[in-house]
Amino acid sequence: MARYTEANCRLCRREGKKLFLKGERCYSEKCALTRRESLPGQHGKGRKKTSEYATQLRAKQTAKRYYGVLESQFAAYFEKAAAKSGITGENLLQILESRLDNVVYRLGFAASRKEARQLVRHGHFSVNGHKANIPSILLRAGDVVAVTEKSRSNDKIKAVVETFASRPTPKWLDLDRANLTGKIVELPKREEIDLDVEEHLIVELYSK
Ligand code: SF4
Repeated sequence: MARYTEANCRLCRREGKKLFLKGERCYSEKCALTRRESLPGQHGKGRKKTSEYATQLRAKQTAKRYYGVLESQFAAYFEKAAAKSGITGENLLQILESRLDNVVYRLGFAASRKEARQLVRHGHFSVNGHKANIPSILLRAGDVVAVTEKSRSNDKIKAVVETFASRPTPKWLDLDRANLTGKIVELPKREEIDLDVEEHLIVELYSK
């Protein structure tokens, strides 16, 4: 399967915003974006993004990298979003937020979405009592995500839960930290998604 091989911080610098790809470091002063704001590459400082296409492309790349999904998968999510009633851009972000790996991250069971994907693949989580090891599963309101019984003593998960105990849980999720479970109360509204991107630009890009 294709993977990003670029350094994670380089992707943030490319988009000019924090994508929170490296867990704890992203919340500290060590964050590369805090220390260095220019674009990556020899000519980073002088580059400008001015064309309409470039702006739309950057919006799409930001969302794609933020959630860590590949191009084809992102395009499939867009099609799904466009087929639903409502505002396509908002539908798209709601679909991305409902991925199991994102929910695991939002619940504070993983330091980053990348780590959440690894933990899910390794079978540390269940959905509605059934083992779930596919990070891209789309969850619905009422679904319950839990660390499996066997993984409750997993050092990595325990350390992350402790580290991020003060990280606020989004209102659309109901976290039971003591029992390492979380329920999706409802799928998030746009204002509850903290992604700094103008999703209408993504819609414009795919509408060309
Ligand atoms: Fe992005 Fe995190 Fe690196 Fe900061 S530390 S640049 S938020 S990946």
